[in-house]
Amino acid sequence: MSTPVTGKGPYDPQNIFARILRGEIPCKTVFENEWVLAFYDIAPKAPVHVLIIPRNPYVSFMDFSTAPAEEIAGVMQAAGEIARTLGLEENGYRLITNAGTDSGQEVPHFHLHLLGGKALPAFPL
Ligand code: C5P
Repeated sequence: MSTPVTGKGPYDPQNIFARILRGEIPCKTVFENEWVLAFYDIAPKAPVHVLIIPRNPYVSFMDFSTAPAEEIAGVMQAAGEIARTLGLEENGYRLITNAGTDSGQEVPHFHLHLLGGKALPAFPL
């Protein structure tokens, strides 16, 4: 049985997104800058499903929310830029993050899901 993701530390440097960031595992990159790497989700839940991850090692939003304001701004601005670039602004999109056991977080590296490209179902997804 896999270890439940509590959303709290310690950070596991062998998690799959850490390995993607190090270039050990390939991904379909959508965007990257000094703060983030963004790539298409391997199992998309919508016609557009992009994961936006910080370059720095945060387990979940629980610790990312205490990051320097400049970094939080950098990640959120990247998310907006990606949504614009992918043409999602006209019809809208959803930006969510799972944090910890109750949310069903699977990968212990903070990430935003950017979902769009169709009318999304009301919560829960
Ligand atoms: O929020 P949560 O941790 O559950 O989301 C993890 C996401 O990472 C899933 O949507 C899954 O499809 C995606 N994933 C991926 N590439 C991998 C492993 C997981 O895109 N190699």
